[in-house]
Amino acid sequence: MVSPQPRMDDEPLPHLRASLEAALDAIAPDIARILDASLGGREVTVEEGARLFEADGPALSALMGTADELRRRANGDAVSYVVNRNINFTNVCIKHCGFCAFSRDHREEEGYFLPLAEIIRRAREAWDLGATEVCVQAGLPPKMDGSLYIDLTRELKRELPDLHIHGFSPEEVLYGAVRSRCSVEEYLGALKDAGVGSLPGTSAEILDQSVRDRISPGRITVEQWTDVIKTAHRLGIPTTSTIMFGFGETNAQRAAHVALIRDIQKDTGGFTEFVPLSFVHEEAPMFRKTVEGVAAGATGAEVVRMHAIARIMLHGWIDNIQCSWVKEGPKLSQLLLDAGCNDLGGTLVNESISTAAGAPHGQLTPPSDLRAWVRDMGRVPVERTTLYGVRRVFETEPAEPEPMDAAKEHAAELFGSYHVLIGLEEWRYEGQRAPSLEGPTWQEIQLRRKAKADGMPQPS
Ligand code: SF4
Repeated sequence: MVSPQPRMDDEPLPHLRASLEAALDAIAPDIARILDASLGGREVTVEEGARLFEADGPALSALMGTADELRRRANGDAVSYVVNRNINFTNVCIKHCGFCAFSRDHREEEGYFLPLAEIIRRAREAWDLGATEVCVQAGLPPKMDGSLYIDLTRELKRELPDLHIHGFSPEEVLYGAVRSRCSVEEYLGALKDAGVGSLPGTSAEILDQSVRDRISPGRITVEQWTDVIKTAHRLGIPTTSTIMFGFGETNAQRAAHVALIRDIQKDTGGFTEFVPLSFVHEEAPMFRKTVEGVAAGATGAEVVRMHAIARIMLHGWIDNIQCSWVKEGPKLSQLLLDAGCNDLGGTLVNESISTAAGAPHGQLTPPSDLRAWVRDMGRVPVERTTLYGVRRVFETEPAEPEPMDAAKEHAAELFGSYHVLIGLEEWRYEGQRAPSLEGPTWQEIQLRRKAKADGMPQPS
């Protein structure tokens, strides 16, 4: 009997080579030319970007391969994440964006406003569990104290000077400035002085005014969004950048949005990352009732195209393309690591906004799970800071579980949940213009409830 021979490295692999050549031959020549040019360093135009959104079959594979190659050149094998916590301190909002299932009108039940003690407690708990960032965003409560965001930042930094405050979307910054009767520049300057480290580049959705007027009339305009972002960058406050897609926008609108982000970056260099956020439709008002012709979110192929095209169009300008496990779930997020992504975002702990819209992927992903997804794809997990400084490279797993991994076992008890939160009487919105200074923390609420259930005197 002849024993099988090991394959030699220089063996020509004729079947595989022939099959790949056949696949390349099957791609539309114009798409092949765009991909080839981008690998050669030429910038992809809006028209070309829009054309890439039509890639399917072998062309989709080539699109992914191109994005993956550009990712490899920019980031190597590292896949990063940040240990952070979301604090969405109120859901009461004067706006009615059609995609938003998180906000509540001030007259509605389920409106909440966390007291200051609870906001600080959440930040401290996150810090004690290894978080380096809190992401602070919320609704726009009516008649809000204009200085709320500045005061809140100051309080958080007073308690936790080394915690990075990633807070306040362009919509919130604009609202704070309007309520304070000052310019955006003055407001951002005060936020920076108070200790804000960076702004989330949310409230972007699609930066096309006709689309915004249709899905979220009254929302911050394209011009205002661009102004807040450019002003922040000019003042030395970095921001992220985002797109919301999959609600029925056109390929040209998507490509134009990415090109606008690229143009801003050429001017300012202030974006740290780009995050495609697919539309979660289940509970979104515009899907359920208010806007005609809204799509039920992006398909898997659309999600892949969006991330890959972002990598290709932004190559050389924004190196970090993040996929959102909240929107896409762990399995698709893993695959997106081979379609141009190099970042998995944060642990989040109290994700509310996508959860409210019906996303089923949970409120917390502990660091060990994020790392396991990365390793499963043959890549190297890296814990980063908000601004993409490297904190730790995990060639191997730590011998002991980290605090946030251990906390996952008791997540509901420790961190609460969005659905419990909106039902709590203790934090009900009652016209607050700022977080109340008085007010029970989550632990105090639990102690009171336990005492009541046990027939014991209520702790004060
Ligand atoms: S997206 Fe923001 S501004 Fe719009 S309704 Fe929701 S919380 Fe309010």
